[in-house]
Amino acid sequence: MIDPFGRHITYLRVSVTDRCDFRCIYCMAEDMTFLPKSEVLSLEELDRLCSTFVGLGVKKLRITGGEPLVRKGIMTLFEKLGRHLETGALEELTLTTNGSQLAVHARSLVDFGVRRINVSMDSLDPDRFKALTRIGDLGKVLGGIDAALEAGLKIKINAVALKGVNDHEFDDLIRWCGEHGCDLTLIETMPLGDISGDRTDQYLPLSVVRSDLEKRWTLTDSTHRTGGPARYTKVEETGQYLGFITPLTHNFCESCNRVRVTCTGTLYMCLGQEDAADLRAPLRASDSDEALVAAIHEAIARKPKGHDFIIDRRNKQPALSRHMSVTGG
Ligand code: SAM
Ligand code: SF4
Repeated sequence: MIDPFGRHITYLRVSVTDRCDFRCIYCMAEDMTFLPKSEVLSLEELDRLCSTFVGLGVKKLRITGGEPLVRKGIMTLFEKLGRHLETGALEELTLTTNGSQLAVHARSLVDFGVRRINVSMDSLDPDRFKALTRIGDLGKVLGGIDAALEAGLKIKINAVALKGVNDHEFDDLIRWCGEHGCDLTLIETMPLGDISGDRTDQYLPLSVVRSDLEKRWTLTDSTHRTGGPARYTKVEETGQYLGFITPLTHNFCESCNRVRVTCTGTLYMCLGQEDAADLRAPLRASDSDEALVAAIHEAIARKPKGHDFIIDRRNKQPALSRHMSVTGG
């Protein structure tokens, strides 16, 4: 799959549920209405959809959500998708999780071929973690991370940088990641979905964060890439990578190799644009993949050049109405 700007589409992110056991303040409103089950693709349908993309050249598959590990029976999807790793058609099967259920699933993930995962953890302070996630138990997440490391998974920690919330914790996170052999990526808040709060208050440009960190840490620019949009530096004091995802201060679209599918089978060609294609109808219409493949090709031909995120103080509406938990980040 090659889009109109010559970019090879080799990376698919699949949101397997819109549900979550947390309500992170930057991601969801406190009161969320989740989708009825009939609208959500079954695990068999998700396998068929992912496998079709693998057949079309996708080499990296990231399972996300909502919280993917709260979806009932989700390990059967990993088990099925693992077959594409064995044939070599797929190079990487991975996961983004809040870590709450990792202690239960870490070993199975390894058994089914997962080698690296991303765990979102914005704070190392139990009270702040609770306030940020509205529900989450930091102890449980740390226990999940321990289990995952013990099972042999490589972990990258994701932390959303929030002004006045966790901006004094980045040193601690860098240190903690150094001690646990984890890489760290800091993420700027993106204006996706109504969150019952004001995002302009939370927004913290990572260019500012980096300059501040450089007063205490030696950050060497690195060519390290993980197939995603992060730009990495090496923290010389810890030996781990520190990445920055800066959708608002830096445009990463020119090298974009990915598309996203929601749990209802809607294909988004860009995280920052509304244009989408329905893949559920062709998927359910026939046992043959012909119509599905045609719909995918037609959608890739419409992949836009880039996004138009902007957090504007005069316009406090989100740039896009859908939440990050729909497309999974
Ligand atoms: N529940 C899983 C988790 O938290 O890792 C997977 C889904 S979550 C939507 C994926 C990533 O998106 C998380 O790292 C989260 O911090 C990030 N995220 C959610 N809303 C965001 C926003 N408005 N701006 C930037 N990142 C966001
Ligand atoms: Fe749930 Fe992840 Fe969104 Fe937090 S960021 S509410 S854990 S989907």
